[in-house]
Amino acid sequence: MKFFFPDSQDQIDPGFDFRTEERSALRVRQRDDLYAHEALGGRVLDGLLVSKAIVDGIPGATGKYTLAQRQRLYREGVRRFFRLDSGSGPPPLTMGDCGAFNYWREEIPPYTPDQVIDFYDECDFDLGISVDHVILGYDPAADHDSEHPQRAGWQARQSLTLDLARDFLARSRARNVRFTPLGVAQGWSPASYARAVRELQEIGYTRIAVGGMVPLKTNEILDSLKAIETVRAPGTQLHLLGITRCSNISEFATFGVTSFDSTSAFRQAFKDDKDNYHVLDRTYTAVRVPQVDGNPKLKAAIKAGRISQKEAAIRERECLVSLYEYDRGTISLQQTVAALMHYEELFSGRHDYTTAYTETLERSPWKHCGCRICEQAGINVIMFRGSERNKRRGFHNLYVFRQRLDRELGRRSAA
Ligand SMILES: [Zn+2]
Repeated sequence: MKFFFPDSQDQIDPGFDFRTEERSALRVRQRDDLYAHEALGGRVLDGLLVSKAIVDGIPGATGKYTLAQRQRLYREGVRRFFRLDSGSGPPPLTMGDCGAFNYWREEIPPYTPDQVIDFYDECDFDLGISVDHVILGYDPAADHDSEHPQRAGWQARQSLTLDLARDFLARSRARNVRFTPLGVAQGWSPASYARAVRELQEIGYTRIAVGGMVPLKTNEILDSLKAIETVRAPGTQLHLLGITRCSNISEFATFGVTSFDSTSAFRQAFKDDKDNYHVLDRTYTAVRVPQVDGNPKLKAAIKAGRISQKEAAIRERECLVSLYEYDRGTISLQQTVAALMHYEELFSGRHDYTTAYTETLERSPWKHCGCRICEQAGINVIMFRGSERNKRRGFHNLYVFRQRLDRELGRRSAA
C-alpha cells in the first residue's frame, strides 16, 4: 500500500529563526526550503502526486508555481526538481494528475489528453492519470431514479471521463510514453463506480484511479470498493484519489487498492479546530498564538479601535515568553495557560481552549516524538502561528501518519 502526498509547494525554511521570526537574508525559496520528504528524512512518503493545474494553472487562474519554477520543473524533470533521490530512504515514486478539483465548475476539463501527456512526459513521471471531470456528489438513489436532479449531469461527467480515458490510453500508446497510464473512474454510487471500472478495464487499463472520494465517508468508500470488486480483474490495481478518511486503509487493501493520496494529516495541523498535532493513538490541540498583524479578527478590532495595537502586542509577547519558559520548566502550567487565555480573549469567542491547552502543555507530546521536526523545533511545533510553525506541525503529522499506516498494515498482515 503506497501513500502519495499531493504537492502544493509546501516547504519549510530550515534557516527560519523562531526567536526573531526572521529568515536568512540569503535564502532562495524553492532551492533552500525543504519539502516534507527532505525535512523528515527516511521513508515517510511512498510517492509524490503533482497536479497539472497546480503547476500550469487553468485558463483564468495561475498555478502555484512561479514561471521560473514551472520552467525548471519541465526542464529538470520531477525527480530533480523535488530532489527525490537525495534522501536516505527509498526514493518516492512520482504520479501526475490534472487536479480536477481546480476546474470542477467548468463545463469540460480545460486540457486535452495530448496536453496532459506532454506534462507527464516532459516532467518524466512514473505514473500518469487520465484527464477527468470530478463528480461532487454521492447518492445511490440516482441509479434508479430517472427524475433525480443530478443524474443527467453526473452521467455526462462519467461518460466524458471514460471517453477521455480512451483517448488518453490510445495517445499514450501511440506516443510510446515511459509513464504508466491510469484511467479514472468517477461515480456517484457503488454501482456507477463499478460500471466505470468495468469499462476502463475493457479499454485496456490495469491501473485505475477512483475519483471523487473526498467527501465520502468510510462506509461509502467501502460500499463502492465492494461493488468494484465484483467486476475487478485479478490484476487490476486501484488508487484512491484524495481520500480524507484514512482509518480503514488495511481493509481497502483487501479490495485491490494498492495506493492512495491524502492531504488530511498535513492539513489538520492548521485547518482543524482541535485535532492539530497527531500522535499514534490520539490528537492534541495546537496552542493559538497568532501574530497580531496576521490575524484578520485582531486586525479588524484594532482598526475599529476596539483593541489597542500595543495591548495586543504585549499579550502576544507574553504568550511566547511564557511558552518558552514553561518549556524550560521555569514557570507553571497555570501561569502559561493564563497568558494564553489573556491573549485569546482578544480574538476568539467561539471556543474555550483552556482544557485543551492544559492537556497539550501538560503532556508536552513534542518532547516524546522522534521526528526531526520536533527535535529541531521543540515547543514551536505546537504553536498555531504563521506558516513556518504550522507547516512544521503538518510535516510532523505526516511522520505520525506513516507510523499509523505501517502499524495498521502490519497488524492486518499479522492477523
Ligand atoms: Zn514530531
